[in-house]
Amino acid sequence: MEQQNIEQIVRAVLESMQAQNGGFNAASPAYGTSGSRNASAPAIPKTSRVAVLTKLGNFEVKEYPIPPIGDDDILVKVEGTGVCGTDAHEFKKDPFGLIPVALGHEGTGTIVAMGKNVKKDSAGKPVAVGDKIVTCMIFKDDPEITMYDLNKQNVGDSDVYGLLPDDDVHLNGWFADYLFIRGGSFGSTFFNVTGMDLDSRILIEPSAVLVHAVERAKSTGILRFASRVVVQGCGPIGLLCIAVLRTMGVNQIVAVDGNPQRLEFALRMGADATVNFADYPGGIEALTEGVKKAFGGHFADFGFQCTGNPKAHSNIYKFIRNGGGLCELGFFINGGDATINPHFDICSKELTMVGSWVYTLRDYVNTFAFLDRAKKIGLPVTELITHKFPLSRINEALEVNLAQKGLKIAVMSDESLANQ
Ligand SMILES: [Zn+2]
Repeated sequence: MEQQNIEQIVRAVLESMQAQNGGFNAASPAYGTSGSRNASAPAIPKTSRVAVLTKLGNFEVKEYPIPPIGDDDILVKVEGTGVCGTDAHEFKKDPFGLIPVALGHEGTGTIVAMGKNVKKDSAGKPVAVGDKIVTCMIFKDDPEITMYDLNKQNVGDSDVYGLLPDDDVHLNGWFADYLFIRGGSFGSTFFNVTGMDLDSRILIEPSAVLVHAVERAKSTGILRFASRVVVQGCGPIGLLCIAVLRTMGVNQIVAVDGNPQRLEFALRMGADATVNFADYPGGIEALTEGVKKAFGGHFADFGFQCTGNPKAHSNIYKFIRNGGGLCELGFFINGGDATINPHFDICSKELTMVGSWVYTLRDYVNTFAFLDRAKKIGLPVTELITHKFPLSRINEALEVNLAQKGLKIAVMSDESLANQ
């Protein structure tokens, strides 16, 4: 090849590279703040859709400008968000008085822009544009702090994305196209979960509730590999409870529920036997015999109460042996009073009982490992997501959740739905 030809080729290549760079910088000014030049990063639009609960039972999908990204802020493009019982309560009754509010806290997505000071997540893991992240309800940078501690200290202005009152930022919940994570003293906590599949990422938040509950249960000293464990309630929380117990090696698990499909799923998640309470119309004595039969004639050593029904709380004591243990985690909001007999249910039985609510940051990080392990041993955890809706049909998603037609309902980005 002649020298002149080579020079022409090199010049042509250099000119085309300069043209590409110029074009990219002009189209994506937001990347200038992060110092990151990722040619594959998507352009950021000027506005984002946000589903705002404007009155009881009604979301309105509104369009808001995407705020400028400060040096400590992160902009996340939402991929999918689970519908939580808390979202359903807000939709129906607004018990926290948040309306108008952008809901959705069980979300995950991709970092599309971030300020120059953002280097690491809340566990100290490096983050970059393009990484997949989740936020956490515990918003203080302390691995052991619990929801109970936060309440006790009466920490005001709780910075939980998806339960923040509306303000001039607007991009405050995961039921949206974009979430704006505020930096600095705001106290946001978030984790880099790149590498996990999308459905597992959507299930991190509810799974963390069970990792925490099992840690609380272990603190009694009663829960062991060979323990007979009864799990009452086979909604998403009860089913995830069974999966956590199975991944940690507990191998005598009996699931109790009134829905045959849910009990069938409980077996696939790791339960050894099931009891349908609808088969025992005779009352609690007959049901207790049913549970004992499922354990080969024995009472349970330990019980997990995973329903929000006061009657279920009264019942579970009867299934547990003298000297056994109980973890109550079904009442994440006030579900009313339950009647028990303190002599028979607690004192004469010498029962050890723990309550459990939400999780700690440490539990959150342990949850990533749980979901990975559950996948490796073949538990169908991601099949918990039974329904997926686009943002434009969010009201329907909440209605399906309230009607208890599925297990986990998710609101997905149009892009995520198209890729499935
Ligand atoms: Zn939740």
